Amino acid sequence: MKIESFIRDIQNFPKEGIGFKDITPLLNDIEARKEALKLLVGKLNGQKIDKVVGIESRGFFFGTLLAQELNAGFVPVRKPRKLPFDTISESYELEYGSDTLEMHIDAIKPGEKVLLHDDVLATGGTAAAVCKLIERAGGEIVQCNFLMELDFLNGKEKLKGYDVQALIHY
Ligand code: 5GP
Repeated sequence: MKIESFIRDIQNFPKEGIGFKDITPLLNDIEARKEALKLLVGKLNGQKIDKVVGIESRGFFFGTLLAQELNAGFVPVRKPRKLPFDTISESYELEYGSDTLEMHIDAIKPGEKVLLHDDVLATGGTAAAVCKLIERAGGEIVQCNFLMELDFLNGKEKLKGYDVQALIHY
């Protein structure tokens, strides 16, 4: 089964001139979703994972499925003021302005093996900020995996030194 065919291209979303990769058809199809999960798990080659960190909000879908499959905890990383307990936060630069992501201070224990997951790797700014959060908490990043990587944006550059994996490359 080709999971690519369950990714829908939406033009001019969320802004004029942007092409958006929509994962909702993949979420909606039981077999395609199972296949994508199997392929993501396969990228780990059996390495042990204690915590899966998913990035708001589309990283939560396969992030929790991965955590279940890997027998690991799930950690949501969220936009500011969404998490109810004490947090650590990281800010990162966007094309215009900056953004901040937060994680609960007790979500990862020192030495835990961590898998970072998000739906799309674009410029890499988001994932790089989350890598910093994980490492500040003492976590050891085993892999950063994504459903899709937009190769032409060179996000891997910002994730140098990490094992970066994606199921689909554009
Ligand atoms: P980056 O920080 O790598 O530039 O952007 C990655 C973040 O933007 C991810 O959290 C991802 O969900 C979102 N993103 C950027 N482009 C797309 C896209 O085309 N489709 C989807 N689904 N998410 C995108």
